[in-house]
Amino acid sequence: MKYVSTRGGGEAQAFSAILLEGLAADGGLYVPEAFPKADLQGWRSLSYPDLAFAVLSLFMDDMPDLEVIVKRTYTKEVFGSDDITPLKTLEPGLHIFGLSNGPTLAFKDVALQLLGNLFESVLQKENRKLNILGATSGDTGSAAEYALRGKKNVNVFMLSPQGRMSAFQRAQMYSLQEPNIHNLAVKGVFDDCQDVVKQVNADAAFRERYRIGAVNSINWARVAAQVVYYFKGYFAATRTVAEQVSFAVPSGNFGNIYAGYVARAMGLPIRRLILASNENDVLDEFFRTGKYEVRKAAVATSSPSMDISRASNFERYVFDLLERDGSRVKKLFTSGQEFDLSLIPRQGFVSGRSTHADRLATIRSIHAKYGVTIDPHTADGVKVGLAQREQGVPLVCLETALPAKFAGTIREALGSAPARPRGCEDLEALPQRFEVIKPDAEAVKRYIAVHAA
Ligand SMILES: *Cc1c(COP(=O)(O)O)cnc(C)c1O
Repeated sequence: MKYVSTRGGGEAQAFSAILLEGLAADGGLYVPEAFPKADLQGWRSLSYPDLAFAVLSLFMDDMPDLEVIVKRTYTKEVFGSDDITPLKTLEPGLHIFGLSNGPTLAFKDVALQLLGNLFESVLQKENRKLNILGATSGDTGSAAEYALRGKKNVNVFMLSPQGRMSAFQRAQMYSLQEPNIHNLAVKGVFDDCQDVVKQVNADAAFRERYRIGAVNSINWARVAAQVVYYFKGYFAATRTVAEQVSFAVPSGNFGNIYAGYVARAMGLPIRRLILASNENDVLDEFFRTGKYEVRKAAVATSSPSMDISRASNFERYVFDLLERDGSRVKKLFTSGQEFDLSLIPRQGFVSGRSTHADRLATIRSIHAKYGVTIDPHTADGVKVGLAQREQGVPLVCLETALPAKFAGTIREALGSAPARPRGCEDLEALPQRFEVIKPDAEAVKRYIAVHAA
């Protein structure tokens, strides 16, 4: 399997060559030269790790130790059950798909736990070191830290806005005691953290000298790891491959739902991919109108992990819409912050928008009807999914976080705090380890220089 840039530049690359990369050299994103074909009959009865190996070996065909890595990643110890991603049936034809049973209680663990093990393997083999630099407002940073804690040859420097995350999120990150994890609490807001990361990355000499890397959502290995659970969810919700299923996906950077699109391109009978936006509705607008218009800034909502102003994985889908014409993609994504593709059919996607009031109402009604508590992001997906539900087509709603992570909104909806999963009852009481730092790229560089891997 070779990978090409969505902007048409450069040579096709092997998987191991793009694993540690973010953007391609021409500023595009890597995609496979062609999508491989699924073996639906053969895969139906596989366990999660065996299914993951079957799917991922098509995308990661130059990783000789892939099977060992996959089996070490997807275990009951890490994800709470042998199913890894259990399907909960609310009523016949309506399901909640549990993707959030990993160590940080959000779906990002499914991909990042694998990425951590892949990184460690490649760095060890090539005798390289890496310093991951990132900014987080909550979910991504903790999932990355739990994926890389204690790993050899890699250190993590994660900037977070001091005092802006929930107590639970803060405790989740800051309680890590592994010496390769560095939490930098920035005196500022999330945008300040992102600006500092950008400024540090703009210093090419520094980046090279300290081997600065990232684990952002455009990494192809993350997308590939997410493709696996669409197959798993489909098999759990159907009995034969003659059936179709629709998936409702709470969306931000278009990484999760794009993985569903890849699964369908491989032959999975997905009827509709139902995209749910929150008040940051740039993607809902695109799927309704064909117009893509980047917002000036994201607004803060009660489904914060979907608060984006532009969707970083979206370019991969546009590449296919434009029949893989890299020069047209390049023109669209370099010439401005908006474009109009309303004349091109956007088959197999529908979308909708959910607000704070919708979120609360959906959390309440699902709790009242089925006795199940869902988190605010999942509620956005359920709200839009139910609005687009079709008779006779099973609807699988992706659960992208557990309610325990967002206790404030759950309390507002239901009047009481959600249950804590086993093992994190006393999370906030654990000793915390972090460094307070000014929103200043030079200060962050000095810190990295002293603590780099
Ligand atoms: C990251 C995240 C999302 C958005 O996923 P994308 O892949 O960025 O579309 C939705 N819900 C939760 C809880 C998340 O952490």
